Amino acid sequence: MAVTIDELGRRLKEERGRLAKALEQMRAGAPPVGEAKEGSPYGKKEEGATEAFELEKRLALEKRLMALIGEVEHALQKFKDGTYGLCDVCGQSVEMARLEVLPQATLCLSCKAKQERSAKGKFPSR
Ligand SMILES: [Zn+2]
Repeated sequence: MAVTIDELGRRLKEERGRLAKALEQMRAGAPPVGEAKEGSPYGKKEEGATEAFELEKRLALEKRLMALIGEVEHALQKFKDGTYGLCDVCGQSVEMARLEVLPQATLCLSCKAKQERSAKGKFPSR
């Protein structure tokens, strides 16, 4: 059942393609600013705020996608360098079970936990 490093590399490349496509689609499908305000239940006063909120949401999503792509590319780079599977911070092997779930993981669990604690409130929710 154990997954091989090669298999993980293959998945990473797939993932990179998928993420790039998602980003592209989101950019293409997003309505240009100033359009698509159909029947807001609130008056004109609210419109600007809603729009700004939508834009902000889209930018946040875009940023998250780009961050993910960055992670995947970073992992692929490590793959090339032959350091794939080693933690960026402490140099220990990243748990294989973790890589299987998250092939772009470049931190072991304990370093990741530390990082998340220091960047509080930045959990990627869905
Ligand atoms: Zn570590």
